[in-house]
Amino acid sequence: MYGLGVLKGLSVTLKHFIDTYVDDFKYVYFKGADARKESFLRRQGPEGRGFFTVQYPEEKLTPPENFRFIPFLVTDYDVSKEDAAYNPQESLELGRCTCCGICAKVCPPQCIWMVRATDPTSGKPLSKSAEFYIDIDICMNCGYCAEFCPFDSIKMDHDYELADYERPNGHIHDIKRLTKSVSYYNAIRPTWNAKEVAARQAAEEEKRRKDEEKKRLAAEKATKTPAASVDKPKSAVLKKE
Ligand code: SF4
Ligand code: SF4
Repeated sequence: MYGLGVLKGLSVTLKHFIDTYVDDFKYVYFKGADARKESFLRRQGPEGRGFFTVQYPEEKLTPPENFRFIPFLVTDYDVSKEDAAYNPQESLELGRCTCCGICAKVCPPQCIWMVRATDPTSGKPLSKSAEFYIDIDICMNCGYCAEFCPFDSIKMDHDYELADYERPNGHIHDIKRLTKSVSYYNAIRPTWNAKEVAARQAAEEEKRRKDEEKKRLAAEKATKTPAASVDKPKSAVLKKE
């Protein structure tokens, strides 16, 4: 029948419209204003009903764990930048980046570059970065750098509020700006971090097992060697006879 499809479509819209108010009454009107945050979070998930408006920037949608924006560097120095005790030098010292250059190599638009640190006395190159830059205007958020980093050092951030009025400082992120604590990483990507911690522990356990096996074999060899050397003179004596 002509117009039935239109009516069906409008009824779906009407249902969503009514659900919005039902949800508001159920979770906000009866439970009070404190439930607004809880309701806002619930509405973002599969249990959400009806329409809702995000009052940005007062309200923000929680990005899903796999959401990726600009990469950042992980440091094992576990103090937040907002903390008064934060020491930027120590944060860089405990950074995981070894300056291997793999991320820069795999980056499709080539927006990563770095400078290797050197020993101040000998001048020898060290396995860490002294400088590290990402041009965020060129970065296309592909996540290849994070995917290929062998040291779990570079990860994709959730922070998307990066608008700025000037380019050199605001859009080219340096090592200080890029470095963030492992707790921050765990807060935005708990599943990833847990998997990586488990993998590292398993690798350490395997290494320890292999080392112990090597030591055991070496000890066995050492106990066998003297017996052989005792037999040697005997055979030598027999040969002479
Ligand atoms: S791949 Fe990882 S360890 Fe290597 S330079 Fe990039 S961030 Fe540093
Ligand atoms: S996310 Fe992609 S484009 Fe951005 S720095 Fe990493 S590899 Fe390069």
